[in-house]
Amino acid sequence: MNVYDSEKMVELLKPLGYSTTENPKEADLAILNTCHIRDKAEQKVFSDLGRLRIHQKAAQKLGKDLVIAVAGCVAQAAGEEILRQAPYVSMVFGPQTYHRLPEYLARNTNHLVDIDFPVESKFDFLLKPDAHKVSAFLSIQEGCDKFCTFCCVPYTRGAEYSRPVKAIIDEAKILVDQGAIEITLLGQNVNAYHGENTDGAIWGLARLMEGLAKINGLKRIRYTTSHPRDMDDALIQAHVDIPQVMPYLHLPVQSGSNPVLKAMNRKHTIEAYHEIINKIRKKRPDILVSSDFIAGFPGETDDDHRQTVQLILDYIDTGYSFCYSPRPGTPAAIADNQIPEEVKKVRLYEIQEVLLHKQLQRNQADVGKIMPVLVEKVGKKQNQFVGKSPYLQSVYFQGQLRLLGNIVDLKITAGQANTLEGEIVTMVKAG
Ligand code: SAH
Ligand code: SF4
Repeated sequence: MNVYDSEKMVELLKPLGYSTTENPKEADLAILNTCHIRDKAEQKVFSDLGRLRIHQKAAQKLGKDLVIAVAGCVAQAAGEEILRQAPYVSMVFGPQTYHRLPEYLARNTNHLVDIDFPVESKFDFLLKPDAHKVSAFLSIQEGCDKFCTFCCVPYTRGAEYSRPVKAIIDEAKILVDQGAIEITLLGQNVNAYHGENTDGAIWGLARLMEGLAKINGLKRIRYTTSHPRDMDDALIQAHVDIPQVMPYLHLPVQSGSNPVLKAMNRKHTIEAYHEIINKIRKKRPDILVSSDFIAGFPGETDDDHRQTVQLILDYIDTGYSFCYSPRPGTPAAIADNQIPEEVKKVRLYEIQEVLLHKQLQRNQADVGKIMPVLVEKVGKKQNQFVGKSPYLQSVYFQGQLRLLGNIVDLKITAGQANTLEGEIVTMVKAG
């Protein structure tokens, strides 16, 4: 979502004469769009700011300037504190106010902090997309009302909000006109989507994807991140009925143990999670299931951890895992049964080992299959290209430049833990 937000900021700045650069020495404005989800991401902000300060000083020596702004969830959470720690920063603004960026620049102030949650929706002020990408992001839902005890999102992104149906379909049409053949719908709880249509009817995510699938030229639809509590039957059925909906489900569970899920305030049981995965696999046996795991949540026992490992072995194909990171202001951060860092790390390592094992198993089972692969970029080796399978696996193959941006059929020839290798399927002429 930060990538999407950054693209939107760039679009807001273009009419003011700004363009993007890869070289900080050329920049006269630098915006750090930040993430607050774990401590590591937050620390990175301050080291990045230190580096930008060096460029700012160099620019000032030459009689120029580099205006530094901090956007995103660290800005939202830390506010004034950023200016205290880094007084050379000019602007601090959160994820729900960046549509005011042109106004901030016009004000030309050196000490601006805007961490409002305005009543107006920022989406009404954003400009039409200017993405020109084969695979594009589209935010449809933001914020969260679920308040898991470890998570800062409800405090930084604010209350749950669903964009109206028409705004989303219009944006998707423009993205497709600009060359997108794949769109990933984004939301902190994307499957909690309940947007209003022009006739006043409320559409859920399944209905929305049905509407999007009617757009000519849109070949692939994905969505992330979904929550087990909002995984309804209509959404499961969408993976069967709508050919554009890809056979991939990212459904974070965090832990395989009921007492931990309860302490996390996830408000579902592990049995309910099993049921969802069983249901969807029954309808779409090929679906690839991904999840998120937190190692060492306060109070997690060895037995709880073993249940997480067992869940991965039994139900999960791939996933992301993190050591529990106490976030200021969240209930779990002040729990008195914190797990020592070394224990968290050992548990994380075990989770990652078993995830790698599962990925390898899945990828090797795909050898010999023919898959439509969306060719996205040039690889490092000669004539090498990298694409994405329907299951979001990266596939490396030998090809030609003209294939970039197209979907080609590849026969999978090898599978490693993180990648597949394939070759172009050549037609064999009959007779
Ligand atoms: N809304 C999604 C997740 C959004 S946050 C859901 O409810 O599943 C993305 C991921 O970051 C989470 O799934 C979780 O695994 C991880 N995460 C969030 N807060 C964390 C924390 N305090 N420490 C470690 N990982 C965390
Ligand atoms: Fe955070 Fe997701 Fe829980 Fe919301 S549902 S509080 S975003 S982990």
